[in-house]
Amino acid sequence: MHEFGVAAALLEAVEARARGRPVRALRVQVGVLQRVDRPVFDQAFALVADGGVADGASVEIVEVPVEVRCRDCGAATRADELVVTCDGCGGHDLELVTGDDLVLESITVAPTPQEVG
Ligand SMILES: [Zn+2]
Repeated sequence: MHEFGVAAALLEAVEARARGRPVRALRVQVGVLQRVDRPVFDQAFALVADGGVADGASVEIVEVPVEVRCRDCGAATRADELVVTCDGCGGHDLELVTGDDLVLESITVAPTPQEVG
């Protein structure tokens, strides 16, 4: 279950940033190469977050397309799948720029009692 690994890694980043404050929502950038199945991910995240700071938080996933850069001609190629051939020169020496991302973009925390008071 790949999604559990993604959910666990994401929760770790959320907890580090939340520092004990309850998290209401989070926004995460996920590369299409992660092939995250949304319903499975939602289940996985609900399970790993259960009882913790992100219990019940809503998750917004922003899909990041694949982008590769050619080491020969420098051209960038964007696609929804892994690219193996450069659009510019037809070369195969490509560097993955984005597509396997897993980036916690932002979290929304509930105000602590001190902040409310
Ligand atoms: Zn090229």
